[in-house]
Amino acid sequence: MVVGGAGYIGSHTAHALRRHGYDAILYDNLSRGHRFLAEGFELIVADIADRSQLSRALKRVAGVMHFAADSQVGESVQHPRKYFTNNVEGGLALLNAVIDADVRKFIFSSTCAVYGVPAKVPITEDTPRQPVNPYGMSKLFFEDALESYGRAYGLRSVSLRYFNAAGADEGGNIGEVHDPETHLIPSALKAITGERGALELFGDDYPTADGTCIRDYVHVNDLAEAHVLAFKHLDAVNNSARYNLGTGKGESVQQVISTIEDVTGTRVPRRVGPRRGGDPPELVADPSLAQAALGWKATRSLHDIVRTAWQWEQKLRQRGKNTVRMTSA
Ligand code: UDP
Repeated sequence: MVVGGAGYIGSHTAHALRRHGYDAILYDNLSRGHRFLAEGFELIVADIADRSQLSRALKRVAGVMHFAADSQVGESVQHPRKYFTNNVEGGLALLNAVIDADVRKFIFSSTCAVYGVPAKVPITEDTPRQPVNPYGMSKLFFEDALESYGRAYGLRSVSLRYFNAAGADEGGNIGEVHDPETHLIPSALKAITGERGALELFGDDYPTADGTCIRDYVHVNDLAEAHVLAFKHLDAVNNSARYNLGTGKGESVQQVISTIEDVTGTRVPRRVGPRRGGDPPELVADPSLAQAALGWKATRSLHDIVRTAWQWEQKLRQRGKNTVRMTSA
């Protein structure tokens, strides 16, 4: 069961599961997810706090992948209550239902935000976890809950710490849809199409080669593949395991913008603004543990990420136009 399966990474993982011969049931309350991203799959529309829906659905599953969470750092600082309620309280309701249903396999969407501002990069899994915002804190709590539940109840779990998820499925039918959109690549693409104003570049005075922040952008389908490998790996996991999912290669905001301009052949309208609160200068994964344990390695480049994101952006615009036409007809 893919909880949050109508969301960005959940929907890509559902497709990856199917490619590998698994049946996937999607479970999503559609607060952030979209029904059209779940097309072709059984979708249960319900909340993770809904015990009766959960216990009915869990009777039919061999394992759970949990993607259903609020995931915007800035919003979590403004509205910590929402993050602790949905990600911690809601997450625990799900976890308890899983235990009560005698399901013992669990894959969790974690994040590099659990590390906060690391003392060194690339970041290995044994880096102290010191999140600097409520989003990261909520994920840290859940990682620890999984470990405790593993020891006490025999739950086997893998927490996958994503770096910057980006790009879209090569097939062109699913991709990233956030409202509002705050992420760098879709924001830059929307600045090109005129769907929004100029991209604001959050700071160019960081202690990096070109002054802009460095991140590790990993293609969503590489992440999706990692979930399938992690699920297969659960039998070998004693209790709980945690792996970084990144490429190991950092790209600056300027480098991302240059790649977008190469792929689209269009200048990204932009202006330099102040730094965004809570942005560390550099976050890059050391993904070697995931490679050793899961046999996983990101295979898609930044160019692939931008190319598929651009294809998806155009599809979304087309979809938007068709929807407006259908509504007004
Ligand atoms: N960024 C930017 N302008 C934007 C959005 C993002 O300059 O409109 C920068 C941001 O400061 C960070 C990088 O792009 O250094 C990636 O940000 P994003 O929000 O995509 O992901 P995050 O790293 O916050 O998960």
